[in-house]
Amino acid sequence: MKTPLSGKTLPELSSFVKELGEPAYRAKQLHSWIYVKWAKSFEEMTDLPVDLRAKLEEVAQVSLLKLAHMQVSKDGTRKYLFELPDGKFVESVLMSFNDRESLSACVSTQVGCAVGCTFCATGFLGFTRNLTAQEIVDQIMCIQRESGKRVSNVVYMGQGEPLLNTEEVITSIHTISKSVGIGCRHLTVSTSGIIPGIKRLAEEELPIVLALSLHTPDRETREEIVPISKKYPLPKLMEALADYADVTRRRVTIEYVLLAGVNDTDEQARELAQLVRDVPCMINLIPYNPTESPDGITPYKRPSMKAQQRFKHLAESTGKTVTIRLERGTDIDAACGQLHNAYTK
Ligand code: SAH
Ligand code: SF4
Repeated sequence: MKTPLSGKTLPELSSFVKELGEPAYRAKQLHSWIYVKWAKSFEEMTDLPVDLRAKLEEVAQVSLLKLAHMQVSKDGTRKYLFELPDGKFVESVLMSFNDRESLSACVSTQVGCAVGCTFCATGFLGFTRNLTAQEIVDQIMCIQRESGKRVSNVVYMGQGEPLLNTEEVITSIHTISKSVGIGCRHLTVSTSGIIPGIKRLAEEELPIVLALSLHTPDRETREEIVPISKKYPLPKLMEALADYADVTRRRVTIEYVLLAGVNDTDEQARELAQLVRDVPCMINLIPYNPTESPDGITPYKRPSMKAQQRFKHLAESTGKTVTIRLERGTDIDAACGQLHNAYTK
């Protein structure tokens, strides 16, 4: 197989050129063609000698991922289906916002997910495998090469649980900030609450935002809708979050998917406000996107706008900022929790 170069770090590119018997500065040239000029082919790399370009053509390829399919939503959101080297697929999303210049890429970290949240389309798939750091980084590079647009923010909110693939995720964060050129302040890692992963990420002391998919302040309901939470009790999780905010000096985000009749009661809104009281955070309410389970059932309903507003108001009672997430790409199934590889062979 040819060696894919996009998504590799500078030291990795250096060992690649060394193996080819080329001088070390060639690695820097390749790095710049890939990450600064977003080259799609070796042919474009005009400051490399012709015979080197021919050699690269033989032994290497620019992109690691293959674009298998793309959909564009009415609001400009683009959903990408990428084929991985082993024939598996993952999805990524590029979101644009009319009121800002910024573009956010939502990347996947695993094929499927083992956490099994009962409202999530990826959760229905089960777990297949972890992505490598290079596979994570190349999603962003592929999006930039395809769209010709600079991604300004990255959210680790695609398929998979980032903190069950922590080392590759951390490596990808370093490559994104050093090579792709998107600073840590513009990165958000979202987790269902894997305490060892939160602690490991905190050790890196990077100013990235951590988002916790909390979804309910009550233990029983949480164990039902986020099954892995049986392993990681809420009080310990809140401690880990507060420590994370302390070390990184960044407020964490609490994500809360609103499911009618399950986690949207007045009592839960008040309990939520109390639970996160001492954690430096803001709360992001996500209206549920109806997704079908494999047997064709949509297990939940989205609360009415009125109920969403009421919940927001009550959750604000201890002074935290509470927002309701703006939806993107729902017409192409590119909204939160809808990534499920409809095209899998
Ligand atoms: N595994 C990580 C990151 C990927 S999911 C996590 O769970 O945090 C990204 C976000 O989408 C999470 O907050 C998740 O709870 C939310 N989500 C999943 N399914 C959803 C659905 N059907 N409607 C709305 N949000 C959903
Ligand atoms: Fe996995 Fe996140 Fe979906 Fe839960 S919400 S199943 S953790 S991807």
